[in-house]
Amino acid sequence: MLLLTWFEENRRDFPWRATTSPYEIAVAEALLQKTAATNALQVYPEFLEQFPDINALAQANSESVQETLYPLGLPARARRLHQMAREVVETYNGEFPATEKELRELPGAGPYGAAAIACQAFGESVPMIDINVMRIFHRVFSVPFKPRNAPTQALRALVLEYMPEGKAREYNLALLDLGAAACHARNPECEICPLCSLCDYNLSHNHEEPSDE
Ligand code: SF4
Repeated sequence: MLLLTWFEENRRDFPWRATTSPYEIAVAEALLQKTAATNALQVYPEFLEQFPDINALAQANSESVQETLYPLGLPARARRLHQMAREVVETYNGEFPATEKELRELPGAGPYGAAAIACQAFGESVPMIDINVMRIFHRVFSVPFKPRNAPTQALRALVLEYMPEGKAREYNLALLDLGAAACHARNPECEICPLCSLCDYNLSHNHEEPSDE
């Protein structure tokens, strides 16, 4: 698959990609909401040092959780992450539920966070669809793009259709990295994109007329 071949050479490495711990992935997803990965990186190790597991976070007081995330702003995010930890400890005896469906019920997880934990920690073959993935599929397949809306079932089915069997994690992360490396919101760099030969957007915008010579 073109995308996965590209990903092997171009993948970004982050500490949250080197773990299958649902807790560590949940923390990363909370930090990454509305925050660039480079900024989240500045807080992630310290957060895990201070709250190394779900029980430590659940037992912490709210102020210390908010203080640790203070450099990233958005105190509501600290509250939600703290609530999630308490819910996992109180309702699930400290073990994250293992399916996207159950994870969606956790406070603060949201559809994207639930998919990210289900796929990366538990190997469930579910699509992780954020605005960048929506944009890529909109451009490649000319499907509607409504960034303020949740992904439609049709889009979810389309993303799933191209997911290689047994490679859900690589596929999802490859799409994220493609959005960061080439398929920017403005001025996509189609010339370095592995999907350029089959992308509707590229073919309609960058089509060169054959030379007469
Ligand atoms: S070819 Fe261009 S528009 Fe299409 S997916 Fe790649 S970067 Fe995005």
